Order: sequence, then structure tokens, then C-alpha cells
Amino acid sequence: IFGLDLNAQASFVNPAAAKMLGYEVEELVGKSLFTIVHGGQATGAALPSPTPGQVELGRVIVEVFRRKDGSEFHAEYLSTPIEEDGKVVGSVVVFKDISERREMEERLAALAKFDTVTGLANRYQFHEKLKHAIATAKRTSSPCAVLLLDLDHFKDVNDTLGHAVGDLLLKGVAERLQIATRETDTVARLGGDEFAVIATNLGESEQTVELASRILADLSEPFLLDGQEVFTAASIGLTLFPSDHGEPGQLLKNADLALYEAKAEGRGTYKFFSTEMQSRVQSRKSMERKLRGALSDNQFFLCYQPRIDIATHRLSGVEALIRWRSPEKGIVSPNDFIPVAESTGLIVPLGTWVLEEACRQIVKWRDHDFSPLTVAVNLSAVQFKNANFASDVQSVIERFGIDPRHLELEITESMVMDRVDEVTTLLGQFKELGVQLAIDDFGTGYSSLAYLKRFPVDKLKIDQSFVRDVIVDAEDAAIVKTIIGLSKNLGLECVAEGIESEEQFKRLRDLGCDEAQGHYFSKPMPADDLPQWCNRWGETHPQSDFRSAATA
Ligand code: C2E
Ligand code: MG
Ligand code: MG
Repeated sequence: IFGLDLNAQASFVNPAAAKMLGYEVEELVGKSLFTIVHGGQATGAALPSPTPGQVELGRVIVEVFRRKDGSEFHAEYLSTPIEEDGKVVGSVVVFKDISERREMEERLAALAKFDTVTGLANRYQFHEKLKHAIATAKRTSSPCAVLLLDLDHFKDVNDTLGHAVGDLLLKGVAERLQIATRETDTVARLGGDEFAVIATNLGESEQTVELASRILADLSEPFLLDGQEVFTAASIGLTLFPSDHGEPGQLLKNADLALYEAKAEGRGTYKFFSTEMQSRVQSRKSMERKLRGALSDNQFFLCYQPRIDIATHRLSGVEALIRWRSPEKGIVSPNDFIPVAESTGLIVPLGTWVLEEACRQIVKWRDHDFSPLTVAVNLSAVQFKNANFASDVQSVIERFGIDPRHLELEITESMVMDRVDEVTTLLGQFKELGVQLAIDDFGTGYSSLAYLKRFPVDKLKIDQSFVRDVIVDAEDAAIVKTIIGLSKNLGLECVAEGIESEEQFKRLRDLGCDEAQGHYFSKPMPADDLPQWCNRWGETHPQSDFRSAATA
């Protein structure tokens, strides 16, 4: 505590105040105290330091005070007037050293601005910087770019190598991003495995392309983490300001859209935002609306594609493939609407409808003395996330009174490799139920042999992309051969799909594949056409009695 007179000279100084400032009391009394603590010479004259008239009375002020030895600290003080007979004669200043508190505040501010794992800017700070970058770009008319980056299969690293290694990978990625960018650029981690870069002062879009390519190349180099080599890759979505104008939020949305398309294009690549993307999003939205009505309006139906036992040429089953009869667009392919149904959750009631419809058809064929056929139904990952899924399937089977062996469920690698423990339980429940399980599109996803061995599946379906070029592409032929060998070793049946020619069929037969499916035999057809197709097939393939095959 010290007192000031009207000339801002110290009228008194208490020992604590003197000690905090590093002086003896006598050195300060009578001097212009504010001048001293602000680093000026203590002349004792009435310098323009705060006098009761000038000091802001009654308000807490924070300033840097200098001690006698030159060191400084943050002081917070409050001045109160001293009055005598109603007249202000001076002021009392109470101050305290708040260095510690300030340090804490700075730490908190840093915590709120920076990501704790990587030390990069966090989402909050990223938004601030983006606002700033846009303002600068406007003022200097030099464009800036926003890159949104997402690691491909980061979850696999976390799941297989543990979260500690996952964190190390995030740090490693942060480091490489900082090296790849300029100091004036902002690199941020927005959350999870999502990073963002604001690159300013980019002359041309080629420079952005170059930056994105460089980042992708840098990240595809292996990381040495905790003594092991870890590989990762990334996808990047790009948007430019001012060419793609908008608020920071809009720019981020643009980049996100571009990122989405980059991932859809097969990962490890970058994509620029375009207005066509936006119109694609709009048409997606309108499809969403229409799909909702389509289920209640009975616009879906199933087609069935035969599957042939290669050794006997007999019909071994059919795959149910959904179609949408849209009033505006005609027949729509599942490739066009299943992803939309998945992202909106409509896939759950739709998947149930497919399952029921397939069971209804199994019953119908059985009751019309058309031998019971195994019907394969495709499942979506979204359905698989439902914990009660097995018992839902069971109740459908019981409701329709079908033999569970006549139902086959097709799942994909990514569905089973994602949440291994839960999935193992679920697959076990299906096995107990007695349904058959096949892994569809095998070879396109990420499979662990250890898990594959553990899962109670019956079949692998070789993806048609490998079958397509099995004759002309030695690499695809080698993959097909490997998958067939793998399924034999694991005691699984092997199905080739997408067979379009006799040549392909013969090659797969020679490679030891068990079953075949494709346009070479038949395209998917409405249920009512199947008996007739079977008759024709039986006539041209006399050795194949499909009826006995299916009942066998
Ligand atoms: P998928 O399960 O792998 O089905 C095989 C796809 O290949 C089918 O396409 C089929 O018509 C087509 N295909 C069959 N043979 C040939 C051939 O020789 N050449 C060529 N180029 N293509 C052939 P589709 O019916 O358009 O179905 C596409 C995908 O949509 C399916 O791939 C499946 O993943 C999904 N899907 C179909 N129905 C359903 C369903 O009910 N539920 C779910 N969740 N997905 C379904
Ligand atoms: Mg399938
Ligand atoms: Mg497939």
C-alpha cells in the first residue's frame, strides 16, 4: 500500500510495498512513485504520472511494475481517493503481484487455443485465424487456401497398435505438416484425425496443388513410432478464397465436401471444391426426401441373380439385389441410393424390408414346389451396428417359418474388421441361428488374417474388380488365385462374382473356385422369372438338376 499526494508523490509507503519493489521505504517516500515503477528516474518532481485527478479512481488496473533491480512483474492495483473535509487530498493505492495468476491465465488461454496432443492450433483458434486470413486476403487481394486433411484408416492404427502409438502418429503428422507449410501458414488439428491448413499469399492455384501433393507425398512415407514402422496416408479437400467465397464456416463446409469426394475417390488423393459438388449435395438431399416416401409407397423390389456350383453346373442359390422404381427416374441402381439410405438411417427399415421380402420369397418358392433356394441378402454396416440385430433376424426367420440354412447374409470386410470383439459375438449369434455368412467384395477392404480365421464365416466372394481382368491382367489373376488358396486353407467356400464370359468362367474353374455368379449365367431378374430361367438352364446343362442340387 502506498499513498500519493496531489502531485503524485508518495506520501507514505508501507514496508510490504517497498519490499515488493525492492526498495527501502525511505528511498520511495516523497518521490514520484509511479515514475519509479514505470522505469523512469525518480526525480521527485510532479511528473505526468497519475495524480488523484488523473488516476482512474476505483478501477482495477493491470500494469507492469519495475523493481529496483530492473526485474519486472505484473501488478494489479486500485486507487481510492483520500478526502479531507469533502476535498480530495490524495489517493491510496493498493497493489499486488499477479505474475502467478497471469501465468496460469496464459496457460489456460494456450490450452483453449492449442491442441494438447500435437501443440497445433485447435478448432477454436483455427476459426479465428481463418477469419483473419480472409480479411487479409480481401485487403491485399492475394488468395488463400484452406486444406482439410483426414488420415486414411487412422482407426486401424489405434485399434491394432494402441492409442499411445496413435497419439505419436498424430504428433508425427503435425510435424510433417509444419515442415511442409510456411511459417505464416496455420496448421491446426480440428479433432480426431482431422487436420487443417490455412495457406496464405498463394499466387496461383498451382501452388495449392503443389502444396497438397507435397503433403500427401510426405505423409505416405513411413513413420518410425516407438520402434516400429507405421504407414498412413491422407485425403485432402481444398477450397480457395476468394474464388470460393463465403464466411469461414462456409469455406470449411466447402473443404469438407471436397474431402468427402476425395475419400470417395479412393483415398490418398486431393480434391478441389466445386459448385458441382454443391449441386450433387442438393440432388442427394432431394433423393433423401424421395427415398423416405419410397418405402411406404412400395417402390422397392428385389431382383435375384443365380449362383452356379462350378463343379456340377447346378444352381446353388441366388443373391437378392434391391432396385428402386422411382416415379421420375425409372429403375435406380442400389449403388446410387444405398449410400444415401445409409447416411440418413433409412437403411435400417429398408434393410428389414429386404430381409422380410427375401424370406417371403423363400416361402413362396417352397410352397410352389420350386425347390427351396438359398437366398443371399446384402447387409449394410449401419444394420450391423445395431446390438439386437441377430435377434431381429431371428424373429423374422421365425415369423416366416423358414429353414435358417436357406438364408445367407453378405457382409463386407470393413464391417467385420472394424469392431472385432462385438462383431465376433454377433457372427457367433448368427452361426447359432444357423444362417450362412459370406464376406462380399473380398479383396477390396482391409482384412486381418488372424480375424478371418476367428470369424465363423462360410464363404468369401471375390470382388468382381479382380474377376473382370483375370484373363488380361496378371496381377488380378494372382490376386484371384491367392484368394482361392486362402479360402481353401481356411476351409471356406469361394465364390467369384461378375463373371461375364466363358473364358473367365473357365479360368476360375481351373483356379479351383467353387461357385460363380455373373451376367454370363444371368443378370439379376424378378422373382417370377426365375423358375423359367431354371428350366432353360436345366435344358442347356443337362447334367445339372437344379432341383436336387438345391434340396441336397
Ligand atoms: P454386390 O453385393 O457385390 O452385388 C453384385 C453386383 O454386381 C450387383 O450390382 C450385380 O447386379 C452386379 N453384377 C452381377 N453380375 C455381374 C456381371 O457379370 N458384370 C457386372 N458388371 N456386374 C455384375 P447391383 O445389383 O447394382 O448392386 C450393387 C451393390 O449394391 C451390391 O453389390 C450391394 O453391395 C449393394 N446392394 C444391393 N442390394 C442391396 C440390399 O438389399 N441391401 C444392401 N445393404 N446393399 C445392397
Ligand atoms: Mg453381394
Ligand atoms: Mg460383391
